[in-house]
Amino acid sequence: MRQHPFGSGGPPVSVIGQGTWHIDHGDRATAVAALRHGIDLGMTHIDTAEMYGDAELVVAEAIAGKRDGVFLVSKVLPSNASRRGTIAACERSLKRLNTDRLDCYLLHWRGSYPLQETVAAFDELVIAGKIRRWGVSNFDAADLGELLGIAGHGKIACNQVLYHLQERAIEHAVIPWCEAHGVAVVAYSPFGHNDFPPPRSRPGLLLQQIAEAHHATPRQVALSFLTRESPLLAIPKASRPDHAADNAAAGELALSDKEIAVLAEAFPRGPKPRGLPML
Ligand code: NAP
Repeated sequence: MRQHPFGSGGPPVSVIGQGTWHIDHGDRATAVAALRHGIDLGMTHIDTAEMYGDAELVVAEAIAGKRDGVFLVSKVLPSNASRRGTIAACERSLKRLNTDRLDCYLLHWRGSYPLQETVAAFDELVIAGKIRRWGVSNFDAADLGELLGIAGHGKIACNQVLYHLQERAIEHAVIPWCEAHGVAVVAYSPFGHNDFPPPRSRPGLLLQQIAEAHHATPRQVALSFLTRESPLLAIPKASRPDHAADNAAAGELALSDKEIAVLAEAFPRGPKPRGLPML
């Protein structure tokens, strides 16, 4: 499994991790088995959130006995992100996850509480040993600049953002900003949530062709593209063990510069949008 540092001074983390949004919607035992299989195959970065209903409970079951080998991330809802609210939300997540600390804690998206309040709570949680580091999600470059002014250098571990072959808007400003400031970029919904290019479409056929050259699958090619260099990581969600195994193998797949260029042309970045796309 390839690894990229989780922000400047952060630990190396598996470039392919595991998302958990809606993982509590299907058969629970199968979902737990998928996550555990994924961890065993090296996808040790696990992403969850207080917003994801019972997903934190599913994660707790999946990481039982494996906690030290996992890089565990959860998120506070903006509506809870006051100074006291953030601390209370973190404590609830720790309880649901049946653990004593998070490896990273994120503000899910920017809400109405001043960033100063949330950052003060994050700092307090770090001092208390309840979180190792903190980051954000769905922050545009301007928001990141403002946050940097409040928190200072080396504090923002990651920015988790929408990024897949058909949605490359973050390449305009967010990735360059994060690269320049040592912030990991975590690609969420790397398969477009449920919008992966169909096999018979022109881009689907191209993915198949590149995949065949590597004895790989189109989704592995997509994940390899999305994690092609530091600071990029991705967190596909799989609630089936065979899907988890498929995704984990992408952690070994390195595309050539030419293949990356061909994919970039087939899935054009498009013009810079006014706002950051998010789900
Ligand atoms: P996604 O990972 O793009 O796609 C998930 C879908 O792909 C599921 O239907 C899954 O099926 C299927 N799938 C996964 N691996 C597959 C494989 N190898 N072959 C065929 N199908 C496969 O969608 P997502 O859940 O929206 O995004 C991933 C994670 O990012 C979330 O779970 C969440 O942790 C995070 N996220 C964060 C935010 C944010 O605002 N920060 C927003 C959205 C998502 P099965 O489940 O049946 O395996």
